[in-house]
This record gives sequence, structure tokens and C-alpha cells, in this order.
Amino acid sequence: MPAEPCSVTACTNPGTLTCSICDQPKTRYCSAACQKQDWTTHKRTCAGAQKHNCFIIRTTAPNGSTNPADRIEPFPLSAYGNWIVEMKELQQRLGWPHADEAGKFYSHQAKDNHWYYYMYASSAPGLPVNDIATRCRHHAREVRGDVAVVRSGPEGFASYEETFCRMELLKTVNYYNTANSSEVFGQRERSRFGERSGFPPGFLDAHGLTTMHFS
Ligand SMILES: [Zn+2]
Ligand SMILES: [Zn+2]
Repeated sequence: MPAEPCSVTACTNPGTLTCSICDQPKTRYCSAACQKQDWTTHKRTCAGAQKHNCFIIRTTAPNGSTNPADRIEPFPLSAYGNWIVEMKELQQRLGWPHADEAGKFYSHQAKDNHWYYYMYASSAPGLPVNDIATRCRHHAREVRGDVAVVRSGPEGFASYEETFCRMELLKTVNYYNTANSSEVFGQRERSRFGERSGFPPGFLDAHGLTTMHFS
């Protein structure tokens, strides 16, 4: 069966590669070069580049896919911005008995220390382990079931973008394939505290101070 053609109009090669962050139907390309060329146009419609205030990371993909992108879906909250109303909306829309805090994690970008991703999970017993949420979580503890992810910030920091896209979240969860989430969390907390108190960058790390006193 011949492959569908490459999405670049001028290109006649078979589109054997797909955009990895799109919803179905997949946008097809013959090569990374064609995908790069088409990105300026494609990002306007690519589902992976659309921004929302909340995403769900599922324990398994609805279509059985093993691609992590297929486990992350937009879940825009109308009650965004206050944890009490966010929890209530999650409970109502997802049928969760209660929405519990499931941990937090910083972005893969080292400069982003003024906000983190904040996870909610269902309090229902016996849910399967969510491997993505577990490895991203700021301190080691198993996270179970689907999680809802929003951006949040420490007290006193409000200057960050509240909406984000699947592509950004995907880059961060992939970063924690190798990065140690507890270490990254501690480093970012120390660097933010250092900025606020006027310590030079790296000072707190070098002096072995922990986040315990100011988180
Ligand atoms: Zn796409
Ligand atoms: Zn092509």
C-alpha cells in the first residue's frame, strides 16, 4: 500500500513520518527537513502546539499507543486560578471522589524557577500507577491514576504564563526520563531563594543549604 504523500505541497515523496505531537489524523512528512519547513504553518493548527490552562496525563493512552504524547490531552478548566474551585471542577467533570495534591515539578528549562507544574490526582483507591507522574514528582512517591496538570507558583510570584501546550509539557516529562526530579526541584528552589536574597547564582548549592527553611 503506498504511503500518503508528504504534507509539504511542493514535495512528492511518501509521508512515512508523522508529527509526533498531533492528534489524529496525523500530519505526514517525508523527512525532518520537510517538517521543519512546514512548522510555521503547521503550528497554527497542530494540536500539540495549542495552549490550555490544564492537561490530563493518563496512565494509559485511550488508543493503546505507547507514545507519551497520546497520554497527554487538553482539559481546559473554567474554574482556573484557585485550588478550591479547581479541585471541585475536577471532581465534578472526572467523577473523582476527591482531588488530592499529587506533587509538583519544574520545567525542563533551567530559567523557569518562578513557577512549576502542579498535579492533582483522584483519591479513589486501587488505581494503576502513573509512571510519567511518578517520575516527574518532586519527591519520590508513587502517583496513581490520571493526573490533572496546571501551572502554579510559589507565594509572591505571579509573572508566568498560565497556559501551555502539549509540546512543552511533553519536553518536560521527557526531561525527567534522565533528570532526577528531587534534585532538580531542590536546585530550582535554591536558585529562586538566592535571587530573592541577593546570593550569587550557585551560592546556596555550593554551601549545601536545603529548601527546608523557605519552601
Ligand atoms: Zn502536529
Ligand atoms: Zn517532504
